[in-house]
Amino acid sequence: MAPRKVLLAGDVDGKLSALFKRVAAVNKANGPFDLLLCTGAFFAPEGSDANSGEAGDEVLEYITGSKPVPVPTYFIGATGQGADRAMEALEMAHSAGSDSAPQLHYLGCSGLKNLKGLNVAFLDGSSRGQASAEHEGLDQGTTCTAHTQEDVQVILTALQQTTADVDILLTREWPAGIARGTPPGSLPQGCPTSGSETVARLAVEVRPRYHVAGTHGFHYDRPPYLNKDLGAGAHVTRFIALAAVGNPKKLKFLHALGLVPAADMDQASLCAQPPNTTPTPYEDPASRKRTFDEAMAGDADGEQSWRWQQKGGRNQPPPSLGRPGVVKDEECSVYASNLPWRATEQDIETFFAVAGHVVDIRRKCNKDGQLQGFGFVQFDSPEAARRACSLSGRDLQGRPINVLPALEPRSRPSPPPLPQDGKPVEGCWFCLSNPHADVHLVASIGEECYLACDKGPICPEHVLLLPVEHHRSSAAVSPSVYTEMQKYLAALRACFAAQGKQLFTFERFMTFRKSGGNHCQINAVPIEAAAAKGAGETLERMAAKHDFSLESVPGPSSGEGSQEALQSAVGDGEFFCASLPDGSRLVHVIKRGERHPLAFGRDVAATLVGVPDRADWKVCQGTREEEEQRVEHFKQLFAKFDIMQE
Ligand SMILES: [Zn+2]
Repeated sequence: MAPRKVLLAGDVDGKLSALFKRVAAVNKANGPFDLLLCTGAFFAPEGSDANSGEAGDEVLEYITGSKPVPVPTYFIGATGQGADRAMEALEMAHSAGSDSAPQLHYLGCSGLKNLKGLNVAFLDGSSRGQASAEHEGLDQGTTCTAHTQEDVQVILTALQQTTADVDILLTREWPAGIARGTPPGSLPQGCPTSGSETVARLAVEVRPRYHVAGTHGFHYDRPPYLNKDLGAGAHVTRFIALAAVGNPKKLKFLHALGLVPAADMDQASLCAQPPNTTPTPYEDPASRKRTFDEAMAGDADGEQSWRWQQKGGRNQPPPSLGRPGVVKDEECSVYASNLPWRATEQDIETFFAVAGHVVDIRRKCNKDGQLQGFGFVQFDSPEAARRACSLSGRDLQGRPINVLPALEPRSRPSPPPLPQDGKPVEGCWFCLSNPHADVHLVASIGEECYLACDKGPICPEHVLLLPVEHHRSSAAVSPSVYTEMQKYLAALRACFAAQGKQLFTFERFMTFRKSGGNHCQINAVPIEAAAAKGAGETLERMAAKHDFSLESVPGPSSGEGSQEALQSAVGDGEFFCASLPDGSRLVHVIKRGERHPLAFGRDVAATLVGVPDRADWKVCQGTREEEEQRVEHFKQLFAKFDIMQE
């Protein structure tokens, strides 16, 4: 698949002519480019007189189409002088009709969009509460001056609905701590090191391939960092910050990328790590473990020390490459991180001496010659190593040191295995043991399965039936899980029948790389008798529109032998399966490389329920309060039929 050609721009500050002049030139020389993404502030700062008159109208000229936009342009940062008027004009231009609509698009407050095959996540606005002085002065009435937790949640929810990794994350602000773990001097001089904690946490969750920000007025191309592995391989993120368009220091404000969408890449190229890759700059327990794994892997080669020698001259202690004659013993060793750069081997030994006799310290340099922030300390006994772990959190030269046993988390699978069925997967919202799980949506819990209200319900009674543990599909669950699922389905059928409705369910199994594989879920909705009658035909007609067909699953559709029947129909592969009110099942096996329409099941269900507009889950999201009310409503309907109250 051919790479998409993408241009990235920093704060436009209302200088559209300057931006588009440069873009047009670049497009002519190296294009055509597929799109231009703008971060930072798109409009001129409030109160700036430079843009009050003609320049303010300049934006309108592009919006009304009297000046051409050279490359389809998408932006966030819809605040500032004249933003309200311009946004109104833009909206009108787009609603007027597709012929006259300008190639200028506001992405929105937050979300995830597919642009020319690329998955683009975006968060407009600054972090409320930590907004910088320049933002505090702004009128809160305009679009997304400050983002809220709900805005962030919109992105996280959208992530669950997409199969491919996010190609680009666009935020106005830099994430807090982004420069952590980079070689000295990598950050531009005078560059503020502060940033948004919200953006940092978002970056950890989104794991974009590129993260682009503006606002700070600097160009910064951070060495790639490695994201946490959620069970299906880890890839790197490249953070790129861009300066403002036409800035007086002539710092870089436009960046060109050739990017093959993650959706079109194979696992190996997606997970390729350039030699200057650093551990993640974001502190969280998972990333610390990752750093540890990295360290263990890096231990095998001693090639990093010469670079330090070569670069030399830096004001840092020499690396500790292991003392002669000491045999490495992991049982007697601890892994120490957050070590100060200036701490010498002697400093570290003194720090750990209270735990026991230190026999060896191993702390290397990274590929850029900088002393690593972590290392291994070996004692003369396993007991001493255990005592050393209790030192975790104590300060060394003003930094709290993290200490972990060296042995325990030593698991660096290579190549990354597919997530195992039954094992909870970090980052999976449906594994009930996961802290991210939306427990408030749960409406009934059985022994091995549970019912949860859908986050974007087609109708109020739209529920999901899921195994408590991580299993990829109902064809792959254990017989006991399958049996309980059947019980739940029978209960749902009875519950809906009491309302004069019938049960329609569908299941889609596709391997979601980004979240460590699919967590089996059966969508269930009640439909009217009239719709139930023609459900099979509706399904086939809608499938035909997408150029695929469905086949009925031979054999029993419930009870004994029904799981085997499904298994022999779908094999190990990905599939879509619908259960009709008459009990029959229609299945489509998704072939390797086939582009299955992700929303197909929702489309069909929404049509059968009679609310085709609600196929789009985005229009179906509600507030937390609405979600809680819906769960209560469903619980009441279901109480009499709940298998757990027999
Ligand atoms: Zn799961």
